[in-house]
Amino acid sequence: MAVSECIIFDGKSYSTKIDNETARLSGKFYSIRGRKPRLAIIDPSQTSENSMYGRSKIKKGEKLSIDCYYIRVPQPVNGKSPLEYIERMLIETEPDGIIIERPLPKWMSERDASQIVPEYLDVEGINLRNMGKNMTGEKTIIPATADACLQIIESLDGKYGKDVCIVNRTRVVGRPLAMALINRDYTVTVCHSSTTDLKEKTSSADIVVTATGKPEYFTSEYISPGAAVIDVGITKTDRGVVGDVNFRDVYNKAGFITPVPGGVGPVTTSMIMKNFMTIAMKRLEDRLNY
Ligand code: NAP
Repeated sequence: MAVSECIIFDGKSYSTKIDNETARLSGKFYSIRGRKPRLAIIDPSQTSENSMYGRSKIKKGEKLSIDCYYIRVPQPVNGKSPLEYIERMLIETEPDGIIIERPLPKWMSERDASQIVPEYLDVEGINLRNMGKNMTGEKTIIPATADACLQIIESLDGKYGKDVCIVNRTRVVGRPLAMALINRDYTVTVCHSSTTDLKEKTSSADIVVTATGKPEYFTSEYISPGAAVIDVGITKTDRGVVGDVNFRDVYNKAGFITPVPGGVGPVTTSMIMKNFMTIAMKRLEDRLNY
């Protein structure tokens, strides 16, 4: 593909399409249930409500007629489990879905987080049963960032090829995305900080997904000519917010690129709300059919 043909993904307009469907579902929910759907955001770090991520979720919820509210979880004392407190708050507030705000504090492991969220309220696909379903190829919800990457990759419709290299192996990005892609007949390589010859692996892939948090680490040497590059990284620097990819350099070589900001980020926020409405509607329909 010629250099000038690199397509810059427009995350904002892509996310608007997702939001339109979410708004339709939340309107339907309201007309059946007589109230707005409620999304509980569990915040173990107790800071997210005021963060950039936190505010964007509240704003998005307002736009889509979804009641988003924070449950601030105090650090448990004397080794007590935070589960009891969270369960009480969930009984009191009766949400239609739950997410857990990240990054997790030191006292809450990924395993704790996956146990807090019951399967039927799991917006992020972190409950172990939902993770297992993704693993075995059953239909399920997957974490929103992985889902955003999946949606973007699927929208390419195989045009750039189907060999994908993911640089991240976490439970919320690399692993669920790898499984979801395998389930859709992609061939996947998963890399991490102990991977040797990273450059060789990324530069032989048709599609590269980077989520390392290493600002502008991936230069054009890591990318094959005409490849699709999906940059999940978000780092605040003196020069503003940047991704894992050195955009200017890679743009001149890639065939498709997601910018930071304005690429994967807005799609992720939209996927959270869309996935929330999917499980809220499913629960509502299950109740009506009971
Ligand atoms: P994380 O938990 O620190 O995971 C980073 C992953 O990258 C790990 O698997 C790590 O390997 C791997 N890695 C780090 N340095 C590497 C290197 N030099 N070579 C190869 N692999 C390397 O971070 P995270 O929470 O997944 O977030 C990653 C980035 O994505 C951050 O910038 C974050 O802000 C951003 N993010 C964006 C969104 C969005 O919606 N756009 C959502 C979530 C996160 P090991 O497993 O070996 O440590």
